[in-house]
Amino acid sequence: MSFLQLHGLTKKFAEVTAVDDLSLNVEKGEFVSLLGPSGCGKTTTLQMIAGFVDATAGSIILDGKDITFAKPNERGLGIVFQTYALFPHMTVEKNVAFGLEMRKLSGNDIAARVKEALAMAQLEKFAQRYPRELSGGQRQRVALARALVIQPPVLLLDEPLSNLDANLREEMQFELRRIQQQAGTTTIMVTHDQAEALSVSDRVVVMREGSVIQIDEPYAMYENPATPFISRFVGKTNTFPVTLTRSPQGRQFELDGHRITLPHSADTAVDDGSEALVSLRPEKILISRQGQGRFAGKVQNSFFLGNLWMYEVQTAFGLVTVSVINNHEQVYTTGEAVSLDWHEDSLKVLAAERTGD
Ligand code: ATP
Repeated sequence: MSFLQLHGLTKKFAEVTAVDDLSLNVEKGEFVSLLGPSGCGKTTTLQMIAGFVDATAGSIILDGKDITFAKPNERGLGIVFQTYALFPHMTVEKNVAFGLEMRKLSGNDIAARVKEALAMAQLEKFAQRYPRELSGGQRQRVALARALVIQPPVLLLDEPLSNLDANLREEMQFELRRIQQQAGTTTIMVTHDQAEALSVSDRVVVMREGSVIQIDEPYAMYENPATPFISRFVGKTNTFPVTLTRSPQGRQFELDGHRITLPHSADTAVDDGSEALVSLRPEKILISRQGQGRFAGKVQNSFFLGNLWMYEVQTAFGLVTVSVINNHEQVYTTGEAVSLDWHEDSLKVLAAERTGD
């Protein structure tokens, strides 16, 4: 039996269904992210788990106990809010000790557990400082230490890194994962940042309009998105509309005068003769000088991203984004004629989008 189970969780606010029949099992020690665009119901889901929002329907089972109607303090979960919500008039040490004092632990136990939590979050040097005397990343660590020191069965993180600047944010992603793994705490994080979800999670739950549309490990989610929406939302991709036909060699489609045969691994539920979308990640495309690959194109823009060069190439089937690892100076310039090619097993075939997909 899974450690945390959400069964058919639903929340309606008057006419708005914020969360619609959401079911999810989380294993002990697992790090699961709820990922999706603004308004898809991530925060409402987290708040139902925390007990701040009552579910309209469904149930929440934690370690075998039904906590659907338990008050937040009875659930005893650790929570880190986007704004950290530290107590400004208390030192770091006092902030971290607060939850233990509320639980009336002995002075010795409090001191030992606070020391351990501060060490885990690498905050020993800052124990006597006040929150205003800390950087954003340090405050974030205090919020984490404060949530983890009570040894909660589940840690809930609501966009915990969104107030940090880009560099610190990336550093704190790895730090968050390190601390969570060291503590071994089952964790659920809400984020709208796909890179963050992929880099820290054991599994990612993609939500849209209150519903779960895919639950998978990060690599599987990226490599095999279930819908065109996920293929665009999780990472960057190129999509081309095609019509699939069947031949003795396998399923095929035509692109820029070339007949492309899909590998059997790309077999899909899409019916023969119906519209499909082919998704192809920018890093799976091989770009070379004119005439060297199957598809002709012209570089329309190039961008230097530090670790990558990104090219936008105009082709007969639309504007295609290609990314190339930066291990040499820029090779292709704007206006240059190039060729594109790829291994057929990089192609993912998805059912064509209905409106809203
Ligand atoms: P964001 O990333 O912007 O925080 P989210 O995915 O966390 O979005 P929620 O905050 O869960 O989304 O909101 C889901 C839907 O429920 C939205 O349409 C929102 O407007 C609505 N909603 C949330 N809270 C309430 C409320 N208290 N009363 C009415 N509607 C609400």
